[in-house]
Amino acid sequence: MSSPSLDELEEYTSRLIPVEPSGVFRFRCTRCGGCCSGGPNVSLTVFDVVRMARFLRIEWRGFLRGYVKVIIADVMPHMLLRGDERGRCLFLAEKHNGVKLCVIYPARPMRCRLYPLLVEGLKPRRLYLDPKSPGVGQGPERRTPSRLIEQYIWERREHYRRLHRLIVEEGVEPLEALYQALSEAWKEAEQGAAWADLDRLSGLGSV
Ligand code: SF4
Repeated sequence: MSSPSLDELEEYTSRLIPVEPSGVFRFRCTRCGGCCSGGPNVSLTVFDVVRMARFLRIEWRGFLRGYVKVIIADVMPHMLLRGDERGRCLFLAEKHNGVKLCVIYPARPMRCRLYPLLVEGLKPRRLYLDPKSPGVGQGPERRTPSRLIEQYIWERREHYRRLHRLIVEEGVEPLEALYQALSEAWKEAEQGAAWADLDRLSGLGSV
């Protein structure tokens, strides 16, 4: 998949639809699978990775090798869900009747749980709807899932806080820092951390 040009990015950004943090919006999933077919564009935190690996009953290292693309930018490691040669997420399956589904749905990443809502940066007050989704503007009115958004923001902050501590304060090399952060999160999940509880996460709401 080729990366979008700067002009295309600017045009896309200008079409984002702002949503009030405690507002309402219309959306109905059309099951087109489009949001899962745009290349490796789902960014992940260590919490996402550990939840997915545990759901698949594999260790985080194996999950990282098989499903994650790691990019180092400005000394910070970033993780993206890998896609196949057509840019489709490796977890997108198609039933014989053409209906598409996510095979790790209960443990899907936070970005997927919130889509088509996009949360900008680490600030809870900047929410947008992705204009590329054909379901935006359709269906019943929905309230923004504020508890889920809060959890997402906590996870992103915590993810980068841990990496920052390891890389900047302790001088650990970026990739090794990512491995240490994953290992730490894995142990927390094994000890029953609330963020690893998929039922609790579902109870925080969805889009
Ligand atoms: S993890 Fe599931 S919901 Fe997310 S992009 Fe992949 S198939 Fe789609």
